[in-house]
Amino acid sequence: MPPRRKPHDQSPQGKPSPGQLAWAELGIPADYCVARGLPLQIQAAELISIGTNPEGRDIQLSPAAGAAWLRMRDSASRAGVALVAISGFRSIERQVEIIRAKLLSGRAIGDILKTVAAPGTSEHHTGRAIDIGTPGQEPLTEDFALTPAFRWLESHSGAFCFKLSYPRDNTHGISYEPWHWCFHPEN
Ligand SMILES: [Zn+2]
Repeated sequence: MPPRRKPHDQSPQGKPSPGQLAWAELGIPADYCVARGLPLQIQAAELISIGTNPEGRDIQLSPAAGAAWLRMRDSASRAGVALVAISGFRSIERQVEIIRAKLLSGRAIGDILKTVAAPGTSEHHTGRAIDIGTPGQEPLTEDFALTPAFRWLESHSGAFCFKLSYPRDNTHGISYEPWHWCFHPEN
């Protein structure tokens, strides 16, 4: 008999993951992972600082992703392209807080989930995802796609094992995020 595959919306023990514990309270449907094709992510165990963002906040990534980011940023810089780290690791707890705050501001959960992944499913939990900006450009806006920085990333990110996670019209129901790149060393 072939081994039974566990549904990917369950933690290995079959219990809800720490992120999923808050889903009912936040109004996130229990079948979110399957419906969106977004697996649960494992929270990074080890993190390194890669410097501060333009607001002076410390940014952390997993050691391998951090090293790859610094190599990629320096390579871009040598080509005359400035890449700026905006955001990196984010805990599951922080993801719950972000969604809670948006609900309190009056937004509907269905609307929020177009731009924020459910707690436990954000690539930022892994320490491998980074939001990238460039000077003179409002961060985390679609206009980033029009910059030389984005064009450079499109051509060169693969050499550093970074991949755009949410292209336009992606199947996950997440808005186009030209700024969000994830390190996939296995590919
Ligand atoms: Zn992101």
